[in-house]
Amino acid sequence: MDGQYRCKTLIVGAGLAGASLGFLLRKAGDDVLLLELLDAKEKDKLCGGLVSGEGIRQFEAVYGPNSFAILCSSRIDRICQRFSGCELGSQGNLWALPRKRLDDYALRRYRETDGRLMDRVAVREIDEAKGVAVGDDLRKGGRFSVRFDRLVGADGAMSATRRLTTGRAPRVAIAVESEIPLFGGEVVLDYLADAIGYSWYIPQGEKAVVGCGVCAEAGVDSIRIVREGATDFCRGMGIPVPSRFRGAPLPIGNDVLLRTGTRTFFIGDAAGLIHNITGAGIDCALLSVRFLANAFLRGDSYEETMRSCVEEVVRLSRDAKKTQFLTRFLIMRCHNKTKHEDRIS
Ligand SMILES: Cc1cc2nc3c(=O)[nH]c(=O)nc-3n(C[C@H](O)[C@H](O)[C@H](O)COP(=O)(O)OP(=O)(O)OC[C@H]3O[C@@H](n4cnc5c(N)ncnc54)[C@H](O)[C@@H]3O)c2cc1C
Repeated sequence: MDGQYRCKTLIVGAGLAGASLGFLLRKAGDDVLLLELLDAKEKDKLCGGLVSGEGIRQFEAVYGPNSFAILCSSRIDRICQRFSGCELGSQGNLWALPRKRLDDYALRRYRETDGRLMDRVAVREIDEAKGVAVGDDLRKGGRFSVRFDRLVGADGAMSATRRLTTGRAPRVAIAVESEIPLFGGEVVLDYLADAIGYSWYIPQGEKAVVGCGVCAEAGVDSIRIVREGATDFCRGMGIPVPSRFRGAPLPIGNDVLLRTGTRTFFIGDAAGLIHNITGAGIDCALLSVRFLANAFLRGDSYEETMRSCVEEVVRLSRDAKKTQFLTRFLIMRCHNKTKHEDRIS
């Protein structure tokens, strides 16, 4: 073994969830080691970057009052929801920013606590009973091992921690996205006609992203649907079709797992916490971070405090078809009402 390390809390994944948990634990004096697969400076998570009022509340509960404001996000006043040629403008308490800004901030705050970080490493084996993880150092080559008291899987939708401790991979759906020049200031969400999902255009300050996601298990069919969905959407909007879309997995939402064994816990996408249909996961990820930190530091029950969030995630996933139908119905009704009011005025 080329390197041997010891820590109280080993967190796998230095995304928003992992870095934020590391920050809270380090602030309380915990001995943390954060492992990241990618280059920590360069990694750039695929994400619409839409943050709800609830997401901001959770973010500021972790990082303090006004911490979100300094990230210079743009307020989204109008979200144009569409399907089958029908349009509706709505006010929304939403903000948008390039996702990298959010993740870099979380990691910087963690590092300011003198938190330990090893990036470009891949965990290959986990022995929960002994509290040992073994991994490869992808930068320098060679193997390393870490002894831990507790382990946190924060390694996203494809969580290797989850696969290595439970023997099975989480269920995921697929989304594609591409960065484009700014095309306009409003968010456009265009529901797909023949699948549960939607395409999006989201302005993020100086630039924007277009993408498409479906609430169906990833496979050849869903990859084709999201590619075609994003391409058709760009054409419909009069946006030049990007030469390349990147793909990324999203948890399917009905496969939530908060812990396994006595010392392994999951947060964020690795736990499967995402709002089905909208694909929003930033607020759930931060909620799980806060509740797991409270469980470690104050002895709260992680499962108990997360109960209503998990129930909501599972319900949304179970009712995906119904919810999409209802959403369309409500949009249609509001649209008709708006048209009626326009006629009267
Ligand atoms: C296309 C797309 C658009 C989205 N848009 C929105 C949106 O607009 N608003 C919203 O609220 N949510 C959105 N989401 C969901 C949101 O991005 C996630 O819910 C959120 O990022 C979860 O954060 P996380 O830290 O749990 O996971 P991640 O951000 O995925 O972080 C996981 C980290 O673990 C690292 N990692 C992975 N594997 C390993 C490994 N084996 N070992 C070590 N490290 C590893 C990764 O490199 C990454 O740094 C979107 C998701 C996608 C895919």
